Amino acid sequence: MSVQARAQEPAAAAPAAQVSVAEGIKDVRRRIEAAAERSGNKAPRLVAVGKTKPLEMVLEAYHQGHRYFGENYVQEIVEKAASAPEDIHWHFIGHLQSNKAKALLQGVPNLSVLETVDTAKLADRLNRICGELGRDKPLGVMVQVNTSGEESKHGVEPAEATVLAAHITEKCPNLKLAGFMTIGMPDYTSKPENFVCLKDCRRRAAEQLGMDEAELELSMGMSGDFEAAIEMGSTNIRVGSTIFGARVYPNKK
Ligand SMILES: *Cc1c(COP(=O)(O)O)cnc(C)c1O
Repeated sequence: MSVQARAQEPAAAAPAAQVSVAEGIKDVRRRIEAAAERSGNKAPRLVAVGKTKPLEMVLEAYHQGHRYFGENYVQEIVEKAASAPEDIHWHFIGHLQSNKAKALLQGVPNLSVLETVDTAKLADRLNRICGELGRDKPLGVMVQVNTSGEESKHGVEPAEATVLAAHITEKCPNLKLAGFMTIGMPDYTSKPENFVCLKDCRRRAAEQLGMDEAELELSMGMSGDFEAAIEMGSTNIRVGSTIFGARVYPNKK
């Protein structure tokens, strides 16, 4: 039975989930290594995305030695971080409304990277709050780019990516530009241009900002397309359901 199928079975939820997370993370690591070897690229950081999944499952991955975790919702990451070990490197990967920035930064002191900055206004607010909270090192941020042009997706237009990246490096001393992030189209094989587009954004920004491309990350690749993303040079992949099982969202009231 597949990892996903097992995790979905409600009857044996607790024991099955524990086995499946450990297996899921090992399986993903194997696939990462294989894709890296095939392409000659360095293996990227694996951010395990635990959104909607209980903290116990996150901790199961933690006990496999995993330290990088991603979450999409402010309330959920704040609750998890409060009860989780402090040496976790949290990545926030959901859309952030600026009025929740303070709750996020205050609630998750060990927030490592916020991958979804898409306006100068949000960058300015994060910069100010980091200053007020007296974080000891700058908050890593990525510029989210909408590389697919879909209305439903957040992120700056590819042509605007350099402008926002420059704003962060020049005007936001409490932030550190870590790179660029995108969400590819579901069907990667017909849409490799999303990842090509993100690489172009990085190349142009590095040129303009006088940086080495290697200083800027590419966060691309999820359960359905992480191997392809690695072959394209991703340095940070965000994998949820392949590790933790399919997500079940409660019916919206
Ligand atoms: C949920 C989510 C992921 C993980 O998705 P899977 O397909 O479950 O691996 C990655 N990135 C973002 C931005 C997400 O919202």
